[in-house]
Amino acid sequence: MAAIEEQYDVIVVGGGPAGATVATLVAEAGHNVLLLERSAEPQFKVGESLMPATYWSLKRLGVLERVRATAFPKKWSVQFFNHEGVGSRPFYFHEFSDEESSQTWQVLRSEFDEILLDNAVEKGVAVQRGVSVRRVLFDGERARGARLRRQDGSQLEVGARVVVDATGQSALLARQLGIRDFEPNLRNVSYYTHYEGARLDDGIDAGATLILRTADRQAWFWFIPLPDERASVGVVGPVESLVEGRVGNPQTVFAEELAKCPRLEERLVDARQLTPMKAIRDFSYYARQVAGEGWVLVGDAFGFIDPIYSSGVFLALKSGEMAADAIVEALAADAPTAANLGSFEDELRRGTEALRQLVYAYYDHDFSFARFLERHPEYRRHLIEMLVGNVYRMSFDGFIEALAGERRRSSSPARVSS
Ligand SMILES: Cc1cc2nc3c(=O)[nH]c(=O)nc-3n(C[C@H](O)[C@H](O)[C@H](O)COP(=O)(O)OP(=O)(O)OC[C@H]3O[C@@H](n4cnc5c(N)ncnc54)[C@H](O)[C@@H]3O)c2cc1C
Repeated sequence: MAAIEEQYDVIVVGGGPAGATVATLVAEAGHNVLLLERSAEPQFKVGESLMPATYWSLKRLGVLERVRATAFPKKWSVQFFNHEGVGSRPFYFHEFSDEESSQTWQVLRSEFDEILLDNAVEKGVAVQRGVSVRRVLFDGERARGARLRRQDGSQLEVGARVVVDATGQSALLARQLGIRDFEPNLRNVSYYTHYEGARLDDGIDAGATLILRTADRQAWFWFIPLPDERASVGVVGPVESLVEGRVGNPQTVFAEELAKCPRLEERLVDARQLTPMKAIRDFSYYARQVAGEGWVLVGDAFGFIDPIYSSGVFLALKSGEMAADAIVEALAADAPTAANLGSFEDELRRGTEALRQLVYAYYDHDFSFARFLERHPEYRRHLIEMLVGNVYRMSFDGFIEALAGERRRSSSPARVSS
């Protein structure tokens, strides 16, 4: 075993929103923090539409001004189109609140992640790019550091009192420990790219996220306006229908699905595809525990439910904040135990569970949000608060119960289909 060559209070593996957040806040509390990011340069990444509730994390991190100064389109709403191309009324985030946090942004992730990492450096984090962590090192049950590999091939072992896994979908530690459970009913795949010159709506709708179901209801597309007349377009659907038994590559499958979505096709008639088609699959899972002796999981490294409501970056930032608070407290008590580091687990799962119920409602073909809101107009507010991301600011118990009741009613054989 190689000797530990450097020692830190905290090592954060991964420089996405979750890693940058936890590293910044722990360094601000006076600890020495090393953040290791595999990519040498900022990269194209999926996850471009923010939820308004990211405002509070961005404010705490002190980067709101920098985000405001970008050319990121302002996002005021989200609109859903059903399989017949009929659009919902847009869900404006300011419908029930005129707080300045009701508007958010559509971001180029290469630029957004860089803002967060630059801020981490300014707050005292030692950030090293082009360094990949191969393995988290343990003494028995206790994490004691990480084995790294630099781009020149050299390997090194570094020690820490706490190791934070923020490696996103790579889920380095959850895979190493075998504690990752996939969502059994969300075995999905996504194909996505950027276009230039897509047709946008006018006024404050120009920056809206659009979610459009395909005519056969097997898949759905996102449409996210980006700076410089770009738009991000992606399709999501079950592996069984978009991969298995399908001839052709991601590009041809994407084109076939787009042909089933005329409301989106018409926006792209004069547009040009800018980037090669990318693919990702089996992205919905959760780790069975969020922390152990000397280790913590944040962001997608802990879990990810589904892209439908654009909750990923919000939960990455939020879990980063929660983890940072737990780590600072545990280090102050000189007790980075599983219980102390994981003290935020119930709170974190309260929000992810509420979002999970909303995700399953969308994928339930018998369920209709329009019908639900007709029967329960009083819950329009709750639905908008969920789309805002206010899952940690209010209770959704009644709403979730009503949603479950509506799903039971819709699936009952007595229902007359509309
Ligand atoms: C199809 C799809 C669409 C999505 N759309 C949206 C959306 O519109 N809005 C939204 O909010 N979210 C969206 N998401 C989710 C969003 O992309 C993630 O939730 C978010 O990026 C998670 O942030 P993170 O910091 O946890 O991980 P990431 O942003 O993935 O960052 C992880 C970092 O760790 C680095 N890394 C990985 N392994 C190692 C290693 N071994 N050593 C060192 N570094 C390593 C990676 O290079 C990366 O930079 C989408 C997800 C999918 C799958």
